[in-house]
Amino acid sequence: MISDTEQLFLVLLALYLFDCVRWVERGVLGLRSYVGGRFRVTVASRAIGNVRAGLVWNHPLPPLGTLLSAASWPLGVSPDGVCTLERCELDRGARAVFVPRARAWQGIREFARSGCAIEIDGEEFGRATSESEARRFVDWLAHVQALPREQRAAAIDAALAESLTPGRARARADEFETRARVLRTLCCVLFAFLFVGLPWTVEHFGLERTWPWLLGVMLVLHGAILAVFTRLHGRTTPGFASAMAQLALSPPQAVRAVDLASRTVLAGLHPLAVLELLPERERAPLRRAVCVDAFHPREPADGSDALALRCGAQYRELLQRALTTRLALDGTDLARVLTAPELDDPARRSWCPRCELQFDIESAVCGDCSTRAVPRTERAVV
Ligand SMILES: [Zn+2]
Repeated sequence: MISDTEQLFLVLLALYLFDCVRWVERGVLGLRSYVGGRFRVTVASRAIGNVRAGLVWNHPLPPLGTLLSAASWPLGVSPDGVCTLERCELDRGARAVFVPRARAWQGIREFARSGCAIEIDGEEFGRATSESEARRFVDWLAHVQALPREQRAAAIDAALAESLTPGRARARADEFETRARVLRTLCCVLFAFLFVGLPWTVEHFGLERTWPWLLGVMLVLHGAILAVFTRLHGRTTPGFASAMAQLALSPPQAVRAVDLASRTVLAGLHPLAVLELLPERERAPLRRAVCVDAFHPREPADGSDALALRCGAQYRELLQRALTTRLALDGTDLARVLTAPELDDPARRSWCPRCELQFDIESAVCGDCSTRAVPRTERAVV
């Protein structure tokens, strides 16, 4: 039989551990650091997840870690219209069936945001990684729609180039760590109070004698976290009200206030641009995954809409140009990033650039991942 104190502790612990995990969409690149800005890659779990999303965890113990996220654009934008996109495939595994949809600019009445969802005339077209990113994207789409057709490609080019700007991810991550220092300290103190101070005090002095003091300390700490979070996040930033509601209603959730504050740190940056936060050895597979997605998309599903295919192709062409320019700035050769593996057998005539299966015929679509195979002679598949 467990005591009342142990029950209290277990309830708090269960609530807290639940708040240490986050449900994220596949294709969102997570960067997790325990201390000192040394990030490691994390993506949606395959074990606890489905074809669309999965769990990502953050460090539960002080100093509570930092979890940042970045994703490619939530939808494709082209001179002719806007189309849905399949998220970048950052890890191998089952994928949801994807049938692209599109809308021509002239037929769109309204862009809107509902939480993280981006809606066109009330229909969801994509999801941003944060509410503020969704707001920014919706405003930008309205701006592009107002441009003459011949100016749209330049506007999209400029936005893609900005999302790939070197140095911005490191600068933002460092600035966030500095600005979040007080909040992190308060969260660590609340953690120590909830999981060490509170159970110890109740165990030794009893809840009846100590509860007014314990409640007082918790309210002071909780209130201080809410005040500092408000200053850090900004009252007018989209998502502030829902974040405050979560923090205010649950002291264990308030311990994770830094997680909520960090969701917008890498907003608007392409996954390729945030690789600079990772050690060199972790960059190569992600760089390749991003490039494979841009240069070797899956074959469209049967019955795909012609406008969706055209908008997707136009957007991909602009993205390919932006990625090539960014890789060149890093001194990285695109052909080398997409180089074929050594072929097992001289009889093999082609290979799949996505999953690297090899085929005996030249013209094939990989049955595993629906990607068009590349003839063997084209070792560098650009
Ligand atoms: Zn394949």
